[in-house]
Amino acid sequence: MSTSESQQVTIVVTGASGLVGSAIKQVIATEPLDSPYGRRRGERWVFLRSTDGDLRDPAQTDAMYAKYKPVAVIHLAALVGGLFNNMRHNLTFLRENLLINDNILWSAYKHNTKKVISCLSTCVFPDKVEYPLTEAKIHLGPPHSSNFGYSHAKRMVDVQNRAYKEEFGCNFSSAIPTNVFGPYDNFDLEDSHVIPGLMHKCYLAKKNGTPFIVSGTGKPLRQFIYSLDLAKLFIWMLREYDSVEPLILSVGEDEEISIKEVADAIVREMGFTGEYRFDTTKSDGQFRKPASNAQIMSLMGGFKFTPFDVALHETVKWFEENYDGARTGFKNSATEGKRAQPKEPEPTPPSSPRADSKALNAST
Ligand code: NAP
Ligand code: GDP
Repeated sequence: MSTSESQQVTIVVTGASGLVGSAIKQVIATEPLDSPYGRRRGERWVFLRSTDGDLRDPAQTDAMYAKYKPVAVIHLAALVGGLFNNMRHNLTFLRENLLINDNILWSAYKHNTKKVISCLSTCVFPDKVEYPLTEAKIHLGPPHSSNFGYSHAKRMVDVQNRAYKEEFGCNFSSAIPTNVFGPYDNFDLEDSHVIPGLMHKCYLAKKNGTPFIVSGTGKPLRQFIYSLDLAKLFIWMLREYDSVEPLILSVGEDEEISIKEVADAIVREMGFTGEYRFDTTKSDGQFRKPASNAQIMSLMGGFKFTPFDVALHETVKWFEENYDGARTGFKNSATEGKRAQPKEPEPTPPSSPRADSKALNAST
């Protein structure tokens, strides 16, 4: 290894082929070097997916840490699915995510990784609790029954982070995004989240002249964050945030919208003019889970979120242009190995006036 390589600090992003990881890769590849959300000199960013190592397996997880010796990890890898996938597979979501998260944190401790930010979700919060959700309310009661497996596995990360800090002094934290959408999402018809699922359904309804059917009543409310905005908030956390306390990463709680408003916006954006109805025999899931972003906004001093309609427009455009390489659940180029992916970031120059960032200094 050359001197310049040995002076580099490595940041690993797990789950980097997914919705959120692709957005972080895109931001890191496109923001200017040394800018607030860009790469910094002396950093090597490594973006991993399941084919680079199955993180359910302790040996493969440990081999990943031994190979890259990361100073920091943004841990996104997870078994992820929308309401209906979760309802069918609560045990699988519980077990796989417990295994992945336990392996990631234990190997990070063993390999002396300085910082880990794990990704939770607002479904960790109790079903019955006073709104808005805030970081202090995670453990105040059981989560909603529809996805209790995934929710409990994610909730345990907060418990683990606190225990690692108490026993070993580790700097492990967690982020709690609300519902996310954007390019590179999972557009499967059955197993995806609501926005990519409905986009794909509307796309096929328009193409085949069939009805566009939305599951449930359309009345539940959700807060959506654009994946590229979320990526910037993660990069901010990596640079600036060193507390075990989780941080909610979200648009404001006044930006809840109903599933019907989401479906209307997709119909508009896709130019669909056919029959459109709701299948009320299907579950609505949790009615709402509004989360406060006051904590991160006070720490960051504000952030300009992409308006929902603009982000939806960009996502529809990406989906239509990349249908063959998108994760549609059908046999296509994505399943045959030609999955659409953002380009790799350029290698960074070796030394940095800012490489002493408190979060990432290999000697901290
Ligand atoms: P995603 O698109 O489904 O991507 C999941 C990623 O995890 C992929 O890169 C996948 O790799 C990887 N992965 C899955 N199982 C793995 C394993 N056993 N070993 C190694 N890697 C594995 O998910 P996402 O929506 O980007 O979610 C990222 C994070 O955000 C997750 O922690 C999720 O819980 C959280 N989150 C998501 C949302 C949302 O609305 N999507 C909301 C809140 C929180 P392959 O591509 O190779 O399979
Ligand atoms: P959740 O926030 O974890 O419940 O995640 P989802 O992204 O799966 O959103 C679920 C909400 O969207 C529920 O109210 C569903 O009834 C509604 N919904 C409507 N159509 C669909 C669809 O095609 N897929 C999914 N996942 N949800 C849908």
